[in-house]
This record gives sequence, structure tokens and C-alpha cells, in this order.
Amino acid sequence: MIVKQIWTANNYRNFNYLIACPETGEALAIDPLDHEKCLRAAADEGWNITQVLNTHEHRDHTGGNAEIVRKTGAKILAHKNAKDKIEGMARGLGAGDVIKVGRTVELEVLDTPGHTMAHVCLVAHTDQPALFCGDTLFNAGAGNCHNGGHPNELYNTFAQQLSKLPSHTLIYPGHDYIENNLRFTLDREPDNASAAELLKQLSGQDPNQAFVTTLKVEGEVNTFFRLSSPSVIARLRAAFPDLPDQPDPRTVFLKLRELRNSW
Ligand SMILES: [Zn+2]
Repeated sequence: MIVKQIWTANNYRNFNYLIACPETGEALAIDPLDHEKCLRAAADEGWNITQVLNTHEHRDHTGGNAEIVRKTGAKILAHKNAKDKIEGMARGLGAGDVIKVGRTVELEVLDTPGHTMAHVCLVAHTDQPALFCGDTLFNAGAGNCHNGGHPNELYNTFAQQLSKLPSHTLIYPGHDYIENNLRFTLDREPDNASAAELLKQLSGQDPNQAFVTTLKVEGEVNTFFRLSSPSVIARLRAAFPDLPDQPDPRTVFLKLRELRNSW
């Protein structure tokens, strides 16, 4: 499996992806908003885009579909419940479905509600596994829930699915928000040395060569995976004085999500 992360350089800071089979050159494009960059990248490598995967229905993820389909004839795949929201869907996906790309690539579909209620993530069970997580999980952050999502479902997705993936899983999100998210982590947890170190290392990085985290790194620097950290809880209590003594992780997650909206 070959993964190409494509930086769109737009205001929303979207990442698009091409996943290719090295034997056949067939490629899957994930959320190819910048259809020109995606088509050019595929041409440069000699790949044919045969499928488009939308992680969810938001326009900054689906806006390139029509042009890719017009130029390549690719099929559009997305969550089965997105079919009224995404034009021209050829395949509706559910949990456990497998997407094949060429002869060698297999991607497992996770049904991951929260950011929207029709959101999928893809997992490659390669030697070093990889997660393509759209707007569910960001580097050092979590998706928002204010355009058709629910924080409670987002917590379930984190707790029941994402946190159970192998720790060496590579994380490929739908946007480049890492610097801002690390600042939020440090605001919540000023003593987080890993987050401070990573922010120092990444400040001003070129998103064309973005740092790729693993789930292990996320566990160290992503507040939404650090729900039992005493610092996180203590700082949260300053904002929410009625937080119980030993808050359950769901409560911590929901309060963090709320705080992040106004931060
Ligand atoms: Zn979105």
C-alpha cells in the first residue's frame, strides 16, 4: 500500500489522500476536494483513480467528487446513510465492510459517528497499520459536532473503536490542525512535556511534509485521549466547578469538547 498525503493549502487546511496498489497502480482518493492536485499527483505517479471515498458528507470533503468522476469515471463510496446527502454514490458502506484497491490493498470500514452521523474511518491492517479518520480524530484533537454531529456519539467512537487500535497505527486526518490543537492541549495540561516538545518541533512545519503521528503519540498529546490525567481534570474543574471528584471519562470528554468550541 502506498499512501500519498496531499496538502490543499486552502483556508480549511484540508488534507486529501491517495491510496494506491503498487502492483496495479489503481488508487482510491479520500475526500479529494482539491481535485486538480489529486489528479496531478496520480498522473505523476502513473496511478489511475478508480474509487473516491468520502469520510462524510461535508462539502469540504465532497466538493471535488464531480470533477474526479468526470475525468476518471471513479466510483463514489461513503457511509450508507449519506446517500441522500452525497450525489452519485455508487456504494454505501457499513461497519466491517472491506474496500479493495487493486490487488494488494484492503481497507476495513469503521462506522464512526460523532462529527456527523454518517462518518466512516478506514483502517489498513498493514505491518504498520494506518487509520484514515476524516474529521473524527485530528492530530492532537477531535472533530467538532456542530454540523450534524453528537458529542456523546463521538465519545463512544473514541472509547469503543479508535482507542482500541494498535498503538503503532499511523494517523491520517482530514485537516492539518496540529499546532492549534497542541496549544489547546497545553492550555488544558501545561505540564504536558510531550505536547510542549512536539509543538516546538512542529512550529512552522511545511504541511506538504507533515509530521504523521501514531496512536501512541496521540495518547501522549491529545487531550481527548487523556481523560484521566489529574492535570486535565483539575483544570477542567476550574472551568466547571460542579465537576465531580472522580469524573467518569465520558463527562470529561464532553466538557473538553464543550470548552474546545469556545476556546
Ligand atoms: Zn466535516
